[in-house]
Amino acid sequence: MTIRAQATESDIAALGSLLREARRGVVFTGAGISTESGIPDFRSPGGIWTKMMPVHYQDYVSDPEARRVSWERRFEMEATWNSVTPNDGHRSVARLIDKGHIAHVITQNIDNLHQASGVPDSHVIELHGNTRHAKCLTCGARVEIDAIKSHFEKHGDAPDCRLCGGIVKTATISFGQAMPEGEMARAEAASLNADLFLVIGSSLSVYPAAAFPLLAKRSGAQLVILNRDETEQDSYADLVIHGEIGPVMTAAIQGI
Ligand code: NAD
Repeated sequence: MTIRAQATESDIAALGSLLREARRGVVFTGAGISTESGIPDFRSPGGIWTKMMPVHYQDYVSDPEARRVSWERRFEMEATWNSVTPNDGHRSVARLIDKGHIAHVITQNIDNLHQASGVPDSHVIELHGNTRHAKCLTCGARVEIDAIKSHFEKHGDAPDCRLCGGIVKTATISFGQAMPEGEMARAEAASLNADLFLVIGSSLSVYPAAAFPLLAKRSGAQLVILNRDETEQDSYADLVIHGEIGPVMTAAIQGI
């Protein structure tokens, strides 16, 4: 295993050759891949968790005030969600998928930026959902954020589902909420089948998502971690690069 404080040319060359050889690679992304697009992560100094505690699922379903707070926070982020665009990290992943080296991107992110960078929906596995739309918790009907925002501005709360009267929530997975079964099964299959598993921008501290790198490693994949700070799984990886995602990925995919 190689661990360095800063990405060196030999780290980047090693990552490039692993990516070039990969045929069933998986990229696993966390909040860190989107910070260069201007979306703060959770655990870096100044990250979202240092400012506000998340609303837990049980509170959301049982307490109208928790729902109001949650929607207020969501609307405060609306300008950010509408203006963010993919960065060099997302574009590098899209290129690796287009060239057939990476089969799937498993993401913990809710920002839709992998799809916006050109990765087809069929190759993106969203473990924590997507904040760009909402869903009824009872019947699963899709609800657009704009419709909820207009209702919220008039009435101070979100509307119930027009089809079944159920509670509507952003299509994300909150703390305390069950993980999406279909996405978890797809992520497991992709991890078991991977020849290379590349973690990009995750502290690997949120479970069950953070179990996939070790699952892939145990089934024979090379495990690479690219993250600015140390992660909880650095000691298991074949290659660890502590560096900035955009520059490292751009350099590593040169010629691919
Ligand atoms: P995290 O905040 O726990 O860890 C992010 C890691 O990325 C940190 O260890 C940090 O060192 C690293 N990082 C940040 N910017 C970087 C850069 N430019 N280059 C290299 N490394 C960089 O994030 P997580 O592991 O994804 O867990 C947080 C949870 O929060 C996830 O479940 C995710 O659903 C959610 N979240 C999503 C978004 C988003 O959708 N963009 C943003 C914040 C949080």
